[in-house]
Formats: sequence, structure tokens, C-alpha cells
Amino acid sequence: MNIHEHQAKAVLKSFGAPVAEGVAIFSADEAAKAADQLPGPLWVVKSQIHAGGRGKGKFKELGPDAKGGVRLAFTKDDVVAHAKEMLGNTLVTHQTGPDGKQVNRLYIEDGADIETELYLSLLVDRATSHVAFVVSTEGGMDIEDVAHSTPEKIQTFDVNPDDGVTPEVAGKIADALNLKDAAHEDMLSLAGILYKAFCEKDMSMLEVNPLIVMKDGHLRVLDAKVSFDGNALFRHDDIMALRDTTEEDDKEIEASKYDLAYVALDGNIGCMVNGAGLAMATMDIIKLYGAEPANFLDVGGGATKEKVTAAFKIITADPNVKGILVNIFGGIMRCDVIAEGVLAAVKEVGLSVPLVVRLEGTNVELGKKIINESDLDVISADDLDDAAQKIVAAVKGA
Ligand code: GDP
Ligand code: MG
Repeated sequence: MNIHEHQAKAVLKSFGAPVAEGVAIFSADEAAKAADQLPGPLWVVKSQIHAGGRGKGKFKELGPDAKGGVRLAFTKDDVVAHAKEMLGNTLVTHQTGPDGKQVNRLYIEDGADIETELYLSLLVDRATSHVAFVVSTEGGMDIEDVAHSTPEKIQTFDVNPDDGVTPEVAGKIADALNLKDAAHEDMLSLAGILYKAFCEKDMSMLEVNPLIVMKDGHLRVLDAKVSFDGNALFRHDDIMALRDTTEEDDKEIEASKYDLAYVALDGNIGCMVNGAGLAMATMDIIKLYGAEPANFLDVGGGATKEKVTAAFKIITADPNVKGILVNIFGGIMRCDVIAEGVLAAVKEVGLSVPLVVRLEGTNVELGKKIINESDLDVISADDLDDAAQKIVAAVKGA
């Protein structure tokens, strides 16, 4: 789950990280009052959407010469003018896709005097199973671009969970960022603060881009992007309360109600699979045969008829879906139960695109018999290879 920048900053602030004062607003009427609450003489008006690259983004409704989604304001009147121009409009950044995202809230922040912009993030390094700091002196830029053009400018520091962030690790991070004096001192505590926030709140990613050295020599978290591990949200009511479903894909929200692991993608073959590994393999093999999956969907090991039906509804509601591949391995589940679930779902939801079903595992013969003997137009497949070829052919032929 993702949250907005202003929420991420509030979370980090509660752990003691240095962030600016700021006020989140939802309408332009609130802008003047928000500006009044901050000292000036510089304010920053920041679009709150769940995507990065806002500063360089463009508003669809405003011309190409209009300013982006993060704007400096030198008077309170400017704050109000920017708020009026930005709220309700659609911001397109390299992370939003061409449709962009509507800006429904702004964060009015006390502006900082920037000396240097740096990059710092925390993530779970899957190779070591440890939390790692990734830092670069090239802050404020797209880290993907830095990784591509100057990979030597990115350094990674592993944190051993038994020791936490030792002064040695914090010192190395500070040195990697060329921090001196007060900024160096600040990092010795900030590294530990960010690590604590990351672990205690079960974050999966925390990106501070940029982390800045201010003209006064101190560090400040100028931007913050945080994602949380969805599997740990049950123990963080405070974080759950920050969820903004208007930023999420409708289909993903519906899927989360049924506890389905679903991610919308750009292709045209809808996939219904049990098990994340099998779902990944299914997406791979669809690509291998020259098509693209419309989604990742893991219905889980113990999918019920209700879950299968919900999954079907979500897949068929996507106008991009031109064919569906059901690929189920009946381990805990029995294939005959799955087959009946699929048929019931098809009967309820209707079917206007080709459907290929591949079943394997417990009671597979009975499952196939149920599919084959039904009067529904379902294409049965023998194995994963066969299934992928059949659905790709059906979609391309259509
Ligand atoms: P992003 O474009 O979505 O990553 O948004 P950021 O919060 O990173 O802001 C983009 C850029 O705006 C930063 O890299 C800074 O250069 C600039 N910026 C943001 N806040 C301030 C501020 O308080 N003072 C100044 N001078 N520039 C700022
Ligand atoms: Mg940024």
C-alpha cells in the first residue's frame, strides 16, 4: 500500500526525522489559511498523488508552458494562485502513465534553502534478506537514470538485523554522501531513525529523493515516498487509516475485498491462477508465445467458488481483456471443485471472450470431464504450454 508524501513525512516525523512544517489542503479556499500557518518567505505547493516525478510533470488541462506539480511560491498570493491552478487538474508524470492522475489534495510546505540534493532509500534486499540503504550523491534525479548512466554513483549498505544501524554503518552512509560537519552528525542519527521507522511500520520501500543539505548545513527530508507490506497491514491500523482508495486501481480495490492478490497490467490476456509462482510462470509463458498478460492474479490455495466468481468478474470487467486463461494446480484444492467454480462463475458473469482452462492435480480427470461436458464454450488444455498457445491463438484470431 502506498501513501501520500505529506502522510509519509508525518510518519517519519513521529520517529524524529527532520521534515519541514506543512499543511495538507483539499480545496483552494484553504490555501491562504495554510500559507498563514507557515513562516515564509518561501512556500512550496506540492501535488499529492501516488506517483513521483511531480516536479517535472505537466498538467493536462494547462498548456505545455505551465509550471509542474511542485511549485515554489514567494508570496501568500502565489500560494493561492498555484493552488487554484493545480487542484482538480490532471498531472501527468513519467510514473502516472499517459492518463495522469487528478490532483485532489495539495501539501503546502515551508520552503527550504537547498545547498545539495542527495538520494537515499531503504528497501529489503532479497539477496541478503536484510534491509539495505541505497544512497547516491545524485539526488533530485530519477534514480533509474542514475543507475543506467552512472551506476558507480549508487552505493548500497546492508544492515545486519542483529546489530541494527551501527555508528559504523551510519558513518559509511554519511561518507558516501560526502556529508561534512553538521550534516554528517545529522546522518548518524537519521540513518537509525529511518531504519527504525522502516522496520516498526513494516515498510517495503522508503525513498527520500531528495534528501537535502540546507544552507544552514543541516539535513532535511524534502520528499518521501513510502510503500508498506500489504501482508503486515493488519497490525498497523494507523497506517491503514492513511489509505486513499481514489489513488488505487478500481479492480485492485475490488480484488483486495476478496483477499485476491491482483495487479492490473497492460496486456489483453486475463489470467486466473492459484499460487504466486504459478501466476508468474503463466505470465512468462504468455509472453513467450507473443502476447501480454492483462493482470497478475493469484486466487490463493484455498479459493472458494465465491472467490473464483469475484476473480472472474474483475477480469471480465476489464475492457482490455480479449481472452482468459485459467491455470489451476489442484493441490489442496480439488480440480472438480475448481471446474464447478469456473462454470458457475461463467454462468453468472457471462463470457464474451475465449476462455482456456488448464487443470492439473487432484481429481484432474473429473475436473476436465465437468468442463468438457458443460455446454459452455470453454477450451480445455492439457498442460501449461498447450494452454498458453491456445489462448494466444484464440486472442490473435479474434
Ligand atoms: P517529485 O518531483 O515528485 O520528486 O517532488 P519533490 O518533492 O522531490 O520536488 C521536486 C523538486 O522540487 C526537488 O528536487 C527540489 O528541487 C524542488 N523543491 C521541493 N521542495 C523545495 C523547497 O522547499 N525549496 C526549494 N528551493 N526547492 C524545492
Ligand atoms: Mg522527489
